[in-house]
Amino acid sequence: MSANAAQNTGDAAYRITIPREKLLGRPELLKLVDESVSYRWMGPGGHIMAYPIRNHQLINMVLLHPDRCDTEESWTATGPKSHMTEFYSNWSPTVRALLDLVEEKEIPEWKLKILTPLLSWVEGNVALMGDACHPTLPYVAQGAAQAAEDAGVLAAVLSLISDKEDIHIALLIYSELRKARGETAVASASKTRDALHLPDGPDQLLRDEAIRKASRGECNSPDLWGDKSFQASIWGVDIQQQAVDSFDYLYRHTAAKPQYGVFSATYHFISDPSILSGTIYTDARGGKTYRKNLDRILVVMKDILGLKR
Ligand SMILES: Cc1cc2nc3c(=O)[nH]c(=O)nc-3n(C[C@H](O)[C@H](O)[C@H](O)COP(=O)(O)OP(=O)(O)OC[C@H]3O[C@@H](n4cnc5c(N)ncnc54)[C@H](O)[C@@H]3O)c2cc1C
Repeated sequence: MSANAAQNTGDAAYRITIPREKLLGRPELLKLVDESVSYRWMGPGGHIMAYPIRNHQLINMVLLHPDRCDTEESWTATGPKSHMTEFYSNWSPTVRALLDLVEEKEIPEWKLKILTPLLSWVEGNVALMGDACHPTLPYVAQGAAQAAEDAGVLAAVLSLISDKEDIHIALLIYSELRKARGETAVASASKTRDALHLPDGPDQLLRDEAIRKASRGECNSPDLWGDKSFQASIWGVDIQQQAVDSFDYLYRHTAAKPQYGVFSATYHFISDPSILSGTIYTDARGGKTYRKNLDRILVVMKDILGLKR
């Protein structure tokens, strides 16, 4: 694992729900809650997702917009409704009609941040999972889904060992199965952001045409959430089954090969950690050897750099 600060993406999200009874007598809005369909609106710098929840009794809306920088980084930040309606004031009449129905109150607002991929998700017998290691822009609806995959794989690999000495190897197998896949979901969401938030102009017109063509099966969609091949790669994989099926193979290979441990102790003796941050080899059983090696490697590196011991 490494010290790795979360970075602003420049985006923030409002989340609102609108009860069905507020839509009565408005057929053009009522269909949004009655049909089992998700709606996506795109515009310069933002987009909106809306879909029915609670057995068609509520419309759930996630409204993405540029972070005003003063958006608080908090589990419970809110913003005034006027900020929200201002940003979407020239969007589709349907969007404006829905926002008109929202009560004049503080609206929950999330600052959206991501991490550059971590060097490792596992150290000794500790593993990271969920947003702690792969916070994902919610643009391909995969943050919690990938966290659930983490949990499924962890449950599988830990259930397949019978000796607590093997916990570290089980965690390495978890990481082998999950890290690249989780990070692909993160990258896909960031890529989708670029497509969805284009300013009006030639690129936006090309995007719209590509989305239309993709809906007829004529090409891939720049909106990965709606792209058939992306959907197959995300929804068409039973990662827990894969963990069970490949466990013996991965166990043999993980136990046999040296593993990377993350060298994160550079801060002790050098001011610019980037000069030395990298990886060191440890044996597959991890933690203890890693710590023993680390002391020795620090001494060697001080020698290389001509630093006093
Ligand atoms: C606007 C928005 C829309 C989203 N839409 C989707 C979607 O459609 N589909 C999807 O799959 N994902 C979506 N996500 C992503 C999803 O919400 C997250 O990926 C998911 O909640 C991550 O789960 P987690 O358990 O890793 O972390 P969290 O849900 O963040 O849980 C972490 C928990 O730890 C607690 N905690 C923090 N610090 C401490 C501490 N020191 N001690 C004790 N407890 C602590 C927190 O209170 C929290 O309850 C969306 C996210 C946002 C912001």
